Amino acid sequence: MSTLLKDRSITTLLKSFTNSSGSDGTGAETPIQFVKGVGPKLGAVFSNREIKTVRDLLYFFPRTYEDRSHIAQISQLVEGSKATLTVRVLSQKHIPIRRLGKTIFDVRVTDGTGYMNLKWFYPLRGMESKFQPGVTLVVTGKIQFYQSQPQIVHPEITWGALADNESDPEIREDHHNVGRVVPVYVELDSVPTRTLRKVLWEATEKFVHTLEDELPAYLLEKYKLPSVREAVKNLHFPPDIEAYRLQHLADSDTPAHHRLIYGEFFKFQYLMLLRKLRVEKAQAPVFSTIQGAQKVQSLIQSLPFQLTQGQVQTLREIQDDFAAGVPMNRLVQGDVGSGKTAVAFLGAAWVLEERAQAALMAPTEILAEQHYKNALSLFQGKLAVALLTGKSTNSERNQLQARLAAGEPLLVIGTHALIEDTITFKSLSYVMIDEQHRFGVEQRRALRKKGVKKEGENGPLMVPHSLVLTATPIPRTLALTAFGDLAVSTIRELPPGRSPIQTKVIRDARQRTKAYQHIRKELKAGRQAYFIFPLVHDSEAEGFTHLKSAVAEAEALAFEIFPDFIVGLLHGQMNSEEKASVMERFKKGEVQILVSTTVVEVGVDVPNSTVMAIEHAERFGLSQLHQLRGRVGRGKFQSYCFLFSNSKSDTTTQRLEVLEETNDGFKIAEADLEIRGPGEFLGTRQAGVLPFQMAHLVRDRDWLMRARDDAMAVVREDPSLREARHLPLREYLTREGSLQFERLGTS
Ligand code: ADP
Ligand code: MG
Repeated sequence: MSTLLKDRSITTLLKSFTNSSGSDGTGAETPIQFVKGVGPKLGAVFSNREIKTVRDLLYFFPRTYEDRSHIAQISQLVEGSKATLTVRVLSQKHIPIRRLGKTIFDVRVTDGTGYMNLKWFYPLRGMESKFQPGVTLVVTGKIQFYQSQPQIVHPEITWGALADNESDPEIREDHHNVGRVVPVYVELDSVPTRTLRKVLWEATEKFVHTLEDELPAYLLEKYKLPSVREAVKNLHFPPDIEAYRLQHLADSDTPAHHRLIYGEFFKFQYLMLLRKLRVEKAQAPVFSTIQGAQKVQSLIQSLPFQLTQGQVQTLREIQDDFAAGVPMNRLVQGDVGSGKTAVAFLGAAWVLEERAQAALMAPTEILAEQHYKNALSLFQGKLAVALLTGKSTNSERNQLQARLAAGEPLLVIGTHALIEDTITFKSLSYVMIDEQHRFGVEQRRALRKKGVKKEGENGPLMVPHSLVLTATPIPRTLALTAFGDLAVSTIRELPPGRSPIQTKVIRDARQRTKAYQHIRKELKAGRQAYFIFPLVHDSEAEGFTHLKSAVAEAEALAFEIFPDFIVGLLHGQMNSEEKASVMERFKKGEVQILVSTTVVEVGVDVPNSTVMAIEHAERFGLSQLHQLRGRVGRGKFQSYCFLFSNSKSDTTTQRLEVLEETNDGFKIAEADLEIRGPGEFLGTRQAGVLPFQMAHLVRDRDWLMRARDDAMAVVREDPSLREARHLPLREYLTREGSLQFERLGTS
């Protein structure tokens, strides 16, 4: 197992990035209690957030910024705006509110241009003594007008930043709050941002010099990036220069941001590439015989179609991997129906020809069965395949197990059933996973593990080749990060003869009527339609009551809208026999309208269907909608997709329009990544593993590419970081105990 890095190590390793993108000496390890203003109480609040050292604290970056360089005048105040003013206290009083049995604390102030009131509904004890007449202060807050007088309720106060108060040391220290762009922090357990600002000011003043650059100086120089010290300091308290104007800060587009973004990408890429290098040092069975090549060629000849350019290229890449003697770790991405599985099968044919075993795992029974049937019909018995799902009987299992244990060259297609302990292989050498993001990393690993074995007592560890098929195109930025240690093959084109699906977003009743008419026309012409709903049953749960459900709408469609056609219902709460029977009838054309939830999302293949209608389309991710849409347009007929959405939100509508405009899964995936973040592709849990605090995969793609190239150069030229120019990086990685850098090196 040691050749495959354990997931845990890389996860901890990634986690440690978010806490500490900077390298440091012991100074940065100083407990936060040593920062002025951090008492036991605040210390506990930070500690709960895993902010324990000065370094953690320095990497607690502002959520946003506020421009306080402009001091407003009372005479110019606008209702509802947020303003910062410098004022002098005139008087104070408590206004009793009898109805509530309490008082409002009211302070009258002036700035020479007019008068206003500051009010507290929950005054703190001792406030009276602070707001003595004559005291000056800076106030920030939202302006209201009450009885035509401007006022701020619960203003944020900065005590006297004015010249006449400069004798007071506490006042002098408070200049980080006014007259500049100031940081706004996430409120931690109701600790006000003001307090956090003060603590961070202290921390940057006293401790920022303890941070040391882990990035090689020549790389910082290459992009004219600031040192980590300067970057961290400027992120908390931006200097008053053009490069740090509010807009740049808001866009994460300052030299300081660039420094951290680049650093995060660089370290991540370095470790990913290093890991890739290590994995490549493991051994895998070699498949490179003439017989293997001939077998594949003869199968290709007998296929009922010609391979597309992308398929040919992908197959070549797989064959190169087979011949290399190191485990293939490859992702094949391509739109639904682009023929990924067909290529994966051809790879399996080679493996079987050389007397080894292969396995393909699919996420659902329907899909596994479909692959199985597809393999049977494509290769007409010239490829030895077997099926294993939850439905397989005990005796089927036992039989299959006996054949696998005996080492019979076999391609097993199945579901999770494949990774059960009772299933063992004699020579599993090629593992294929379909629709990979539906499986956890663990499940992928579990299947691959069944083929890992040690050759002899001290011999090398043999790891099977592994191929992951995904119909959700992975945006390039993600492919480079989350999947950074995978090689990627891409099948861009669909097999010829498929015309792009026409897609329309349906927004109102009139358009809906027209869409129904169109669908009716298709059905009359003998075609079939899908109707997809986000829910199985109507729901009473909050936020769901307005949603149409498959079960309820199936009735409406069957009895009211399309009474002259047969409607079938398919959803995840039905048992597998019921599901299979409906699917069978739909395939045979006995059912013309299939009402379903997203269970049809993957794999279902009925070339006669030409309509995909999706209700509440705004509830789905773009890539998911694209997948659903891929259920039609699989035959020779022009196909249509209707996206019903009565969402009033502009962004929602714009989002859906991407699907009207393009059938290119890659463009759609990029849009999805931009709008919804990596969770859409990785599942939220895995997305959480991406160690980027500052970096954004879409926005910062240029930095990602630069970091990738630079990290590649380092891994190539100096993988163990022995050169002097890489020592800071080496020290950083070594010192971070959780990075397990040395272990990474020997595993
Ligand atoms: P994917 O796995 O990418 O969704 P499949 O390999 O399942 O695609 O192929 C989808 C359908 O297209 C299958 O019925 C398959 O037999 C067929 N097919 C695959 N490659 C081609 C091709 N080059 N030309 C025509 N049909 C193809
Ligand atoms: Mg597929």
